[in-house]
Amino acid sequence: MTIFQKIINREIPASIVHEDDLCLAFRDVNPQAPVHVLLIPKKPIVSLDHLTPDDATLCGHLLQMVPKVAALLGLEGGYRTVINTGVHGGQSVFHLHIHILGGRPLDWPPG
Ligand code: AMP
Repeated sequence: MTIFQKIINREIPASIVHEDDLCLAFRDVNPQAPVHVLLIPKKPIVSLDHLTPDDATLCGHLLQMVPKVAALLGLEGGYRTVINTGVHGGQSVFHLHIHILGGRPLDWPPG
């Protein structure tokens, strides 16, 4: 079981900023910006590579939640979304998640 599944199950604590039937958003323990939140589906999808056509509605919901969570967090100046996929993509937790980063101007390109 991944650490994110344990957060969904309330087996370990997290600073949750949004929850609904399909997804959960909580603050990253190792923030890379003044605001750094992870938005995850409750369904244990490993990564973008593991999506199926059945996940289309869920994916639409997740994307539509991004600006809502960003607004909740006060990111009026803009924000960055990142989905790391696989080892070369820098993924370290194998439960699909969208990083939402903001609260300062962010450099481009990323490393
Ligand atoms: P990634 O490297 O894209 O897989 O991102 C995983 C993220 O999960 C990292 O930014 C970690 O800091 C974060 N993380 C790991 N464990 C926890 C936790 N228990 N609560 C919140 N964030 C976590």
